[in-house]
Amino acid sequence: MATHDHALGLRVSFWVRFCIPSFLGFGLEKREVFEQSLSDAVLAALLYGQEDFRLEQVADPTPAAGDVVIKVTAATTCGTDLKVWRRGGHAKMLSLPTLFGHEAAGQIVALGDEVTGWQLGDRVVANNSAPCLSCFFCKKQEYSLCTDLSFNNGTFAEYLKIPAQIVRHNLLPIPPGVPDAIAAMTEPLACVLHGAARSNTKPGDRVVLLGDGAIGLMFAGALAQLGAEVFFIRRQQRSPSHWTEVWGGANL
Ligand SMILES: [Zn+2]
Ligand SMILES: [Zn+2]
Repeated sequence: MATHDHALGLRVSFWVRFCIPSFLGFGLEKREVFEQSLSDAVLAALLYGQEDFRLEQVADPTPAAGDVVIKVTAATTCGTDLKVWRRGGHAKMLSLPTLFGHEAAGQIVALGDEVTGWQLGDRVVANNSAPCLSCFFCKKQEYSLCTDLSFNNGTFAEYLKIPAQIVRHNLLPIPPGVPDAIAAMTEPLACVLHGAARSNTKPGDRVVLLGDGAIGLMFAGALAQLGAEVFFIRRQQRSPSHWTEVWGGANL
């Protein structure tokens, strides 16, 4: 992941590339020189603090052993992203300024040494974290308590480096026919399916959902598939045609 210093250097170069040549009326030849010197820069959004989000040029990510780099084709905004943006950081996961965003689909464009089972061009979703599988909690299969979780931050960017630990345990192929924008929502959907499974919902149960945001709507679909009758307590009034559009014939 690019450091702040590196990002700053490239930001200056970015300004030089796009502002100075046109201002001074440099010819094509000079522009090409600038282009070449910036061939390792890519566009990314960085979080600097509370509601301080900036689009900048950062170093093109290079995969270390075990890593892969994807070209991001779709990135979605999680409720956690919104919360982190409002608060200006996340004590455990991020140190400012930082690349930001953790839900994305993309295509593999670079493979680090020792990566097996993946090829350039594969369409993938990288989950936002992966456990180490060797600490005290991982050995008890309490993966969410792992003391050495690897995080995947920086999906709001042209390219994203996926850390080796996530490549090993939490990188998923996107099936043909599933659009990238849908695949990018794998992580919140996984949370919903986990919750739905633990709810022990049976056919004919009547279930009340608090809220009809993205997570609420996914819960509605998952619980309706389990045969439940679903009711919403919601902020917005929605027409019956809205529900037909979202979930077809589901029992809502
Ligand atoms: Zn998320
Ligand atoms: Zn662990």
